[in-house]
Amino acid sequence: MFLSELKTGEKAVIVRVNGHGSFRKRLIEMGFIQGKKVTVVLNAPLKDPIEYEILGYKVSLRREEAGRIEVISREEARSAWEGEDLAPLAEGFEDEEERLDAVMERLARERNHVIRVALVGNPNCGKTSLFNAASGAHEHVGNYSGVTVDAKEGKLEYKGYKFILVDLPGTYSLSAYSPEELYVRKNLIDALPDVVVNVVDASNLERNLYLTTQIIDMNLRVVMALNMFDELRSSGDTLDIKQLSWLLGIPVCPTVSRTGEGVDELFDTIIKIYEGASPRLARHIHINHGAELEKSIDRIKLLIQENPAIRNRYSTRYLAIKYLENDKDVERVVDTLANREAIAAARAEEEARVESLLGDNTENAIVDAKYAFIQGALAETYRRHQDIRPRRTVTDRIDAVVTNKWLAFPIFLLLLYIVFYATFTLGNYPMDWIDWLVGKFGGAVGTLMNDGWLKDLMVDGVIAGVGSVLVFLPNILILYFFISLMEDSGYMARAAFIVDKLMHRIGLHGKSFIPMVMGFGCNVPAIMATRTIESRKSRLITIAILPFMSCAGRLPIFVLLAGAFFPHHAPLALLGIYLLGIVLAIISALVFAKFVKDDDLPFVMELPPYRVPTGKAIGRHTWEKGRQYLQKMATTILIGSVIIWCLGYFPRSDKGVVWQQEHSYIGQVGKAVAPALDPLGFDWKMDIGLLTGVVAKELVVSTLGVMYAPETAETAESSAGNGDNDTALQAALVESITLPAAVAFMVFVLLYFPCIATFVAIKNETGKWSWAIAVCAYTMVVAWIFAFLAFRLTAFLI
Ligand code: GDP
Ligand code: MG
Repeated sequence: MFLSELKTGEKAVIVRVNGHGSFRKRLIEMGFIQGKKVTVVLNAPLKDPIEYEILGYKVSLRREEAGRIEVISREEARSAWEGEDLAPLAEGFEDEEERLDAVMERLARERNHVIRVALVGNPNCGKTSLFNAASGAHEHVGNYSGVTVDAKEGKLEYKGYKFILVDLPGTYSLSAYSPEELYVRKNLIDALPDVVVNVVDASNLERNLYLTTQIIDMNLRVVMALNMFDELRSSGDTLDIKQLSWLLGIPVCPTVSRTGEGVDELFDTIIKIYEGASPRLARHIHINHGAELEKSIDRIKLLIQENPAIRNRYSTRYLAIKYLENDKDVERVVDTLANREAIAAARAEEEARVESLLGDNTENAIVDAKYAFIQGALAETYRRHQDIRPRRTVTDRIDAVVTNKWLAFPIFLLLLYIVFYATFTLGNYPMDWIDWLVGKFGGAVGTLMNDGWLKDLMVDGVIAGVGSVLVFLPNILILYFFISLMEDSGYMARAAFIVDKLMHRIGLHGKSFIPMVMGFGCNVPAIMATRTIESRKSRLITIAILPFMSCAGRLPIFVLLAGAFFPHHAPLALLGIYLLGIVLAIISALVFAKFVKDDDLPFVMELPPYRVPTGKAIGRHTWEKGRQYLQKMATTILIGSVIIWCLGYFPRSDKGVVWQQEHSYIGQVGKAVAPALDPLGFDWKMDIGLLTGVVAKELVVSTLGVMYAPETAETAESSAGNGDNDTALQAALVESITLPAAVAFMVFVLLYFPCIATFVAIKNETGKWSWAIAVCAYTMVVAWIFAFLAFRLTAFLI
């Protein structure tokens, strides 16, 4: 009987909750678990929701929800105890109430030990053989498809449980194209098996797992029977079953249903899943369909979720995916919803968007994404005995080269080198133009405005500050252009795959790698890019170590100092600095891994087929990231540079620029922090440079320019005619600071406080100020220690 059928005042004991994962989870959390008593407070025939009392609480459930909760009512108990089995139990009680309760509880427990299992799988994967092996039946087994036309039911008992086994027709997918597919789907949704056994032909995994991905979308309780395991064994191929199971979130039991091998273990696992397994054994995963499709899925899902009742029957993510696949059956479901028009309109928009970006319709794109997922999962777990398979597709052929044992890393490093080279050489031209334009614009504003603090604020604060950010936009755009190109063509997925093993050693994941590469451009969008990392632990650690990736904003400082102090080995010094950042990032990752709670669930790295990216998609993705840079940076930097400018401008005096800087608020702060930085060999002018770098690292060089202006003028004079500002500043620096101090300064700039925009980005992405503060504190400590070591070491060496 179902809970919805009880009348007001009636009492019952719960047997089980039927339905898909998130529905059951919700009801179980409300206390609807086996053996609990529930009383109907109010159930009028037309009333919805119905009110119940459970565990002393009143809860109201929709009729639909209550219809999925199986119970034993008093009536059932009364008629049951008259039967033979329960008579002894019933006689033990004097009181009628107590007797009924005892019988109800007993019946609920027994009924709960009935597990309905559905066998689902491709045609010819051995479902009927498994059915026969398990139930002792003798259904016809045939080596051709379409033998099973409708569901056969068989019963068996095992370890105190009664199993009702249903052998469903074979299907390759759960789309609504063939009658078999629709039949299987209806059965999974309406007949609600307690556990689905996905029978998979181990000798043909790629095709068989496609159905699995669709079952995963439905969020059901699944066990995989990896059938024909004998064939896999004799082929010499190997499969890491544990890892595959871990990646899919489904327990995988190898079986040979022709001989019955592994069938007991399969049923043991079914019992475990039925009784509620640990996340180690089974967890619901979301198959990642790629950023663009996921956006569409989320949008449709949210719209569907505006109809709460639908969530009882279906996983809304499943509905959204199927709806985007133009599934006729799901369209009929959506047509019953109040906001069907909004949903249809959203789909039309998403279809157009996906089509223009991916150059393919959503239906195909979803199929591709599922195969990309399967490819990724198999690449990690499946090894062919001998690669005799001819390389057929273009993707196979490209992969044969770029993921080749020997070639993978060299190709990868070469591509990275090209990207960085292009970023910094090509980027220099527009950089100079923008620099020039900003200078001209500042000059123009300067001549137009009257002298006074307002003009200084505009020219030196606002225009110079924002200009310093704008200057890096071309670099950022070029870098992101290449990154989008690698992402959209499918190469980035391989890159992540190649480095995955290495990244695992430091507690990270292959997908952490892409944000880290982006970090060399700007930490802010890199931190945002960590959203693709599913595991919370990997994501937090990646965010925390990203500031050590030396961003483009730090580069001018290194160029300036390395050029001045290592005139003959500047590139080597630069390389050393970048490497130091990377090494410290790795060490930090290892350290953080000890502190972040381990939820490190694995996820599949999708291997999508290679495709020529559309210009539109590249344009949009590049701009999307560039826009994030502009937005986040421009606002914080604008505010930051105005604040820094004010601190340097006030209190006013007319004793010259440097005197002003020294005695301004920022100069006072610089002098206040000077003792802390003294052991690193910095003078107060350098300290002020570092302070301005808190806003944006780009500002450090311009501040040094101002601070060393008098020395610069001197050296420029003595070196007669050398008018270049930068080289003059370099000469001045060589005069004023020691080599150890310069090295320590570079190290400090590399490591200390990530700029304010990064700080804000960390807070936004982790959702916690505490994380942002912790990261900053950590970087400061590390910076101090390593700058100190660098100072001492260099002093010792020279
Ligand atoms: P169904 O279409 O999924 O119901 O598959 P059947 O149970 O009809 O089996 C298809 C064919 O595969 C039959 O010839 C079976 O004998 C064979 N078969 C089933 N299970 C196994 C197995 O574990 N190993 C091997 N080698 N053959 C199997
Ligand atoms: Mg069959």
